[in-house]
Parts: sequence; structure tokens; C-alpha cells
Amino acid sequence: MPRLYPIDKTRDIGIIAHIDAGKTTVSERILFYTGISHKIGEVHEGATIMDWMEQERERGITITAAATTCLWTQSYKSRLESAEDKRKGEYRINIIDTPGHIDFTVEVQRSLRVLDGAVVVFDGVAGVEPQSETVWRQADKFSVPRICFINKLDRLGASFDESLASIHEKLTPNAVPIQLNIGLEDAFEGMIDLIRMKAIRFEGEHGERVVEFDIPVHLLERAQSMREAMISKAAEHDEALTEKYLATGELTEDEIRFGLRKGCLSYSLVPVLCGSALRNKGVQLVLDAVVDFLPSPDDLRALKPIHGIHSKTGEEIIRQPNDDEPFTSLAFKIASDPYVGALTYFRVYSGTLKRGSYVLNSSKNDQERIGRIVRMHADQREEVEEVYAGDIAGLVGLKNTTTGDTLCDPENPILLEKPIFPEPVISMKIEPKTKADQERMGIALKKLQEEDPTFRVKTDQETLETIIAGMGELHLEILVDRMLREFRVEANVGRPQVAYKETIKKLAAAEGKYIRQTGGRGQYGHVWLRVEPLERGKGSEFVNAIKGGVIPQEFIPAAEKGVREAIEKGVLAGYPVVDVRVTLYDGSFHEVDSSEIAFKIAASMAFQEGSRRGELVLLEPIMKVEVVTPDKFLGDVAGDLNSKRGRIEQMLERGNLKVIDVKVPLAEMFGYATKLRSMTEGRGTFTMEFDHYEEVPRNISELIISGKK
Ligand code: GDP
Repeated sequence: MPRLYPIDKTRDIGIIAHIDAGKTTVSERILFYTGISHKIGEVHEGATIMDWMEQERERGITITAAATTCLWTQSYKSRLESAEDKRKGEYRINIIDTPGHIDFTVEVQRSLRVLDGAVVVFDGVAGVEPQSETVWRQADKFSVPRICFINKLDRLGASFDESLASIHEKLTPNAVPIQLNIGLEDAFEGMIDLIRMKAIRFEGEHGERVVEFDIPVHLLERAQSMREAMISKAAEHDEALTEKYLATGELTEDEIRFGLRKGCLSYSLVPVLCGSALRNKGVQLVLDAVVDFLPSPDDLRALKPIHGIHSKTGEEIIRQPNDDEPFTSLAFKIASDPYVGALTYFRVYSGTLKRGSYVLNSSKNDQERIGRIVRMHADQREEVEEVYAGDIAGLVGLKNTTTGDTLCDPENPILLEKPIFPEPVISMKIEPKTKADQERMGIALKKLQEEDPTFRVKTDQETLETIIAGMGELHLEILVDRMLREFRVEANVGRPQVAYKETIKKLAAAEGKYIRQTGGRGQYGHVWLRVEPLERGKGSEFVNAIKGGVIPQEFIPAAEKGVREAIEKGVLAGYPVVDVRVTLYDGSFHEVDSSEIAFKIAASMAFQEGSRRGELVLLEPIMKVEVVTPDKFLGDVAGDLNSKRGRIEQMLERGNLKVIDVKVPLAEMFGYATKLRSMTEGRGTFTMEFDHYEEVPRNISELIISGKK
């Protein structure tokens, strides 16, 4: 079956926002309006749109899917009557869910990785909030073209002008309004589309009818001057347009859209729209703008070529976003769906995939059979036979694929850059409140772990306490909160702890003897071990170098077990030992008294002694932190970072803000959000991610070992 929607009529986008700005409401309305418009041509005689809407309400709209697909034709285009013509006018928009908590770095990065463009939603009262700055920077980092939607203009105290000014001041001077609001607060009526110079309001119970009317006289002059400004910005990005604009002072509607699109795709222009999602005003025009200004997967060719490496030879490969290229895709989220079970969401970068075929999971070097492919709509799950370049869909029944894996054509293996899932750096105890909570907690923790590759759970062997570990305080807080809301598990949590590790600095050898001979059958285990440091990040290794049976083969696994347990348990302060090779090279045994347990104990003793001789040290996670602050607080912020053992790597300007790139030990970063807020009158923001492990300075390490820190 050929594809129904050409690649240039596809959009893979996300809606991102500060929590509470209205992301959920905007998404809901989008699915609602796209649903109506798509079905309009299909309703049978007698059935009205309203009937369909009622059914839709009853069934509830799915907005929880990791990616939902919908279809849209720009509202300003004349309505096409035949089903065939209607389809030709339609664009397929795939909306990729982005996390509500934007500090959830890994989740945000994961979604920014697979989407091509974004709608950034702002609260029209608050304007740019600290978290919006964080999202904005992330989108800069991933080169995501975007449009802005200033929402909630119906609220008391809302202001389009002030919100726009805050975008200009805090985010980008390149934000260009393409609308002007008509009224505010209770009197917020609609907006003027500056491209078409038409006033627009939304009629019908759910604002489903986009109605044009004449621009109110008192706004005409302002609208004209804003239109001028917009056109001159649109003309800047294309030579032919610049020439025409300079010669005639005018551009056609299509030329304006073309210029704005070009600016948006080259990251030098951001169209700004306004409305009130809750009052059903303006959302259809946001959809128009998604189609008009945000990239299609085909635009990736120029924007962000699809890079990978050959999974066997390591040679670099570039793929084009075409159906004829070899199949290349990224599994970006595993989610449990109430109807089909585990669903692997994936984005197709190039080529096509048919149901029933085989793909290579090049990250795991494993084949997977493609059983069912589903596309999630607002109100249904559609089983599809084939997906194409640029598509986003879900796979049912994959066996061994996890988040971040590349799925590709077995004949043309390629490995896309894996989203990086770092080792957890922070841990805390978690304790269910009641017996009933205890049972549910096990299930909840298992589910959450499957969804989130940076979340780990383990049991402390000595205390039998459950320990959860993740990427930061907030990360764990959110997971504990989800456990309460989604799984109704009440739990007490301990203080967050830094996940230190231990390692050795030099080669050493040690003997371990466990000999007990007091009447009856004794115990006899005796080994010699060598411990040597490995490169950072290598983990731990055990090597058996016993020759000539000085220790019988049957006792070697026991000795290894003794070493492995000692490594996990730690020697200096109870943290696992990493980056060490342990070689068992000598020892002796006793015909009668030797036993597995005796060798296990002897090996454990030898490891502890050997690593002490090898100069044990503590390692701590060092975070890569980016702090953004207005200039006037720079001195205080930098001074504070220095006092936190921070190493400032560079300072940059971004707009009228200062950006500090700094490496800081995680242990010093607890409570930093509050501290930074109070140092900068709430204007400073920061992002933090794990960078590497590093030796803890001696004075601090002594405090940690003695339990004082
Ligand atoms: P999210 O956290 O970004 O997903 O935000 P929600 O969509 O859940 O909205 C947060 C709150 O703001 C909810 O109570 C919404 O009803 C409300 N809200 C959303 N859009 C608007 C709007 O346009 N006007 C007003 N007054 N409230 C809105």
C-alpha cells in the first residue's frame, strides 16, 4: 500500500511548556479539532458534527499516548468537499508527548531527540517562567525550530504585550508576533491574523467554527504597523523576497509564509501566536502554524542529517529521509498500553517497515520480528500494514528492545547515536507504609523501571531495605509521587544520598587464609590475589590465573564469588569498588579440610587486604551544570559555585543573560534550586547532568568515611 501522506506533509512535533501553562489543555483541543475536521466529510446524512463530538466526549480522548497522530488542513484554506480532495489537503501531525516536569532532563532530551519542531506554550499572565527558559535552552541545544503560543489571555492580569516582551528579553530577540489579540481577560474575543489581515473569532459550543470578521477600527493602525514589522522580518531570510520587499514594500500571503518558514527553519525567527485554550480560542490557528512553519521530516536533510555508524565496521553513515533508503529507526519509549500491552514507540528516519518482516536491533545485535504496528489516534488504535520515513508509531510484541535502541534493515546495519542513559548518581531508602503498600510497591517499582532506563531499584543485602536510585533529587521525587498517584503506594523515603564508589590507585598483592583446625573436620582456604587499577568506567574483572592445580578447579567459582561480593560491599566506606582487575594467581589446599566456603572467605579477605594496599580512594559523581543568570547576579552566583568546589569552564552571553558552564560535585548541589532562586530573585535557572566520576579530595573523603558527611 503506497503512503497516503507524503513526507513533506508530515510533522513530528512536541508541545512543551512550564508546568501549568496549559500543555494538556492545548493538546486536548488539538486532538478534538483535528478529529472534527477530519470526520466532517465522513459523517452520514442526518448525523451532525455535534453527535460525533458527544460520542467523543463519552469515550474520552487519549492524550496519554507517547505519540498521537492527527490530521489537519489549514483553517484558512477553502473547505474541500470530496473525501479524495480532502485527503490531499491534509497534513499528518504526530504529537510526541513531552514530560510535564521539564527538569526531568533525560525525558526531555529523549523527546527532543525524536521531534522535529515544537510549540512552546506560555501562561499569558506569568509570561516567561524560569522553567520555560530551561526548556528553551534544551530546544536550542537540540536545534529544534519552534513557535510560541501565549495562552490564557482570558485570565485576569493577562497581557500579550508583556508576555511577548518577556520572550524578547529572556529568550530571543527573534520572536515575531504574527497575531494581535482582540481584547483581554473577560473581554478577550479572538485575534487578528496579521498575515491575512483578518479578525478571527471562534463560534460554536466548543469554538469549533473559525469565523472571520472585520478588524475592529481601533486596532487597525496597530495591526498595520505590526504587519509591516512582520513582513520586513519575513523578507530577511530569502534574497528574492528581500529584493521584492525593498522594491515594492509588499509581499503576498504565500511569500510572507514562505519567508517566516525559512526564518523559523534556520533558527533565526520564532513566530508568536496567542489565545486561550480553555476558552477554545486560537488553537486551530496554532495547528495552521505547525503546518506552515515547522519542519517536515524531509527538511531534516538540510537541518540535521541523520547520522549513524555501521554497527560492524564503525564506518560513518548518513541516511536521507526517503522511503527508498534502508530502514532506520529509533525506539524512543516503551510504554504500557491498556489495550495492547507493552508498546515500543519508534520513529522511522529512513526507509519503510512492513508488518511481518524482520528487523535488526543493532544496539543489541539481535533480530526482532515485527508482529503488529499500531498508530495511536485520539480515539482509536489503528493497525497498519506499513510505516514510512518520517512516521512515528508503536510496535507490539518486541522481545528484547529497550529505550534508545536502533532498529534497522538487517542487510544495512546502522547504529544511531544512543540517547545517553547515565548511571544513577543518587539513591535513597524507600519504605512502604503498610503491608498492602508493600505488595503494590513491588509492582510499581518494576513498571517504573521498565519505562525509565535511569531509574534503578535494589535491596540492601545487610539491612534488607529497598533502595531506589536515579539521576537527581527531583527525578526521585517525581517517581515517588507517581507511585502515589498512579499505583496508590504510600511510602516513606529517606534522605537522598550520593552514590559514591571506591577504587584503587596502584597494583598490589595480598594473601588470604581461612584455616580452622580445632578437632573434627577443619576449614582450609588459602589464596593469593593481585589487584590492579583499570581505566575509569571499565567496571570490575576477575581473572583466574591458577596453574598446575595449586587450587583445585572446583573451588575457583567460590573464590570468585568471595571477590565479587567483597567488590559489591566495598572496603573503605561501604560503596562498590569499580575499575579494578582481580587476578587469582596462587594459593594452596588441604585434601580433607578445604571447602567452597573456606575459599570464598579467604578470597574475600585477600581482596580487602589487597585493595587496602592498593591505596583505596573514594570516587564521587561530578555534574556538568549550566547556570543562566541575569548579569547583575553573576558575581554572587559564580562566587557561590566556587565555594561548592565548582570548576568554571566558561562564561558566555545568551541574549542579555550570562551562561556559566561549570563542573560541580553532586554532593554540593543538594538544594541548589532554592539557593539559586533566592540569589537571583527567582530569575536564575540551571540544568544539571552527570558527567564523570572523580576522586574525592582527602579531607572530604575522611568525613564521608567517618560518617560525618
Ligand atoms: P499543563 O500542566 O501545562 O499540562 O497545564 P494544563 O493544561 O493542565 O492547565 C493547567 C491549568 O490551567 C488547568 O486548570 C487549566 O484548566 C488551566 N488553563 C489551561 N489553559 C487555560 C486558558 O487558556 N485560560 C485559563 N483561564 N486557564 C487555562
